[in-house]
Amino acid sequence: MTDARGVLIVAEHADGVLAGSTAELATAGQKLAAALGHDVAAVVCGASVARLASEVAKLGVKRVFAVEAPQLSDFQIEAHLAALEQVVAQVAPRVVLVAKSVQGRDLGPRLAFRLGAGLAQDCTELGWDSQRNALLGVRPVYGGAGLARVAVLTTPAFSTIRLKAFDPAPATATNPAEVVAVSVRLDSLGPVATLVSSAKQQATGIRLEDARVVVSGGRGLGGAEPFKVLQELAAALRGTVGASRAACDAGWVPHSYQVGLTGKTIGADLYIAIGISGASQHLAGISGVKNVVAINKDGEANIFKEARYGVVGDWQKVVPAFLQAIKEMGVSP
Ligand SMILES: Cc1cc2nc3c(=O)[nH]c(=O)nc-3n(C[C@H](O)[C@H](O)[C@H](O)COP(=O)(O)OP(=O)(O)OC[C@H]3O[C@@H](n4cnc5c(N)ncnc54)[C@H](O)[C@@H]3O)c2cc1C
Repeated sequence: MTDARGVLIVAEHADGVLAGSTAELATAGQKLAAALGHDVAAVVCGASVARLASEVAKLGVKRVFAVEAPQLSDFQIEAHLAALEQVVAQVAPRVVLVAKSVQGRDLGPRLAFRLGAGLAQDCTELGWDSQRNALLGVRPVYGGAGLARVAVLTTPAFSTIRLKAFDPAPATATNPAEVVAVSVRLDSLGPVATLVSSAKQQATGIRLEDARVVVSGGRGLGGAEPFKVLQELAAALRGTVGASRAACDAGWVPHSYQVGLTGKTIGADLYIAIGISGASQHLAGISGVKNVVAINKDGEANIFKEARYGVVGDWQKVVPAFLQAIKEMGVSP
């Protein structure tokens, strides 16, 4: 692909709703495109994507490629890979960006492999090395204890982008991008996998990934019961509850509460870590948090290194007093 130009972002959606990661990719794409002197385009695949494509068109991209086929109705990886492989061949982008979401971490590496392209995984920053003509990616390693700098020398160059690493591009009402229909051939695809059924986990309240305030509990809470106090504190701060893996593994809260490397990546304004030691795998999920407050009885706990404010003490004394003070003050974040 010697004439390859532009940055192509792969839009993601589920149940007819555009994933928040698409607007984050738009920001990452715009920054990179500015460094390259190229434009950003997006691709949306699905059975019927006109409405979604028009939403993506408002995210500051230059062009949206809309790919429609009945085989793309659910996220069937083989069909999406085949469609995107053809789109990349037709569009010839210099760089392809995919979210490091559940879908994207499956799709990105496999698509790059099919195209014989290099991939920088899980990046939180991107840049361009014009001397080496290479995509530069920065990715946290060892649970966030270090940063690896990766150069991708192939054309196209791929990267998966860590969720919440970039602010979402705002939707603009003016000058939406042009939407271009792209045809792909998926007839020869065999029935590699069939979606038999899908089950949605019941969820109430604010999603962890979207919450401005997260009150998280760890092993130091000692059981499931104390999470009721955390629920109360979160409600008073109009936030939601999270947990460390230790608390989830103990069965005190569902695994959907888990924050960290193998849990959710959050970008809250305020994160209150209660009875959490601050293992690197936990910290990997809160690198995008603006303010960390730690409550821990061990003044040497690693979480205090990440915390803007910390209270050394027993949560059983600190949290009820904190909750009482918030209620009296009528705090609303
Ligand atoms: C591959 C891998 C992936 C992982 N992914 C994740 C992940 O996504 N998320 C995650 O969280 N972990 C993850 N872990 C586990 C991680 O290494 C830690 O084991 C875990 O985060 C510890 O949880 P914790 O802080 O609740 O428990 P602990 O490390 O046991 O800490 C408990 C803390 O509570 C404090 N405490 C005790 N009693 C009180 C009290 N009364 N008042 C106040 N403080 C008190 C203690 O001082 C201590 O600091 C992963 C591990 C591996 C190997």
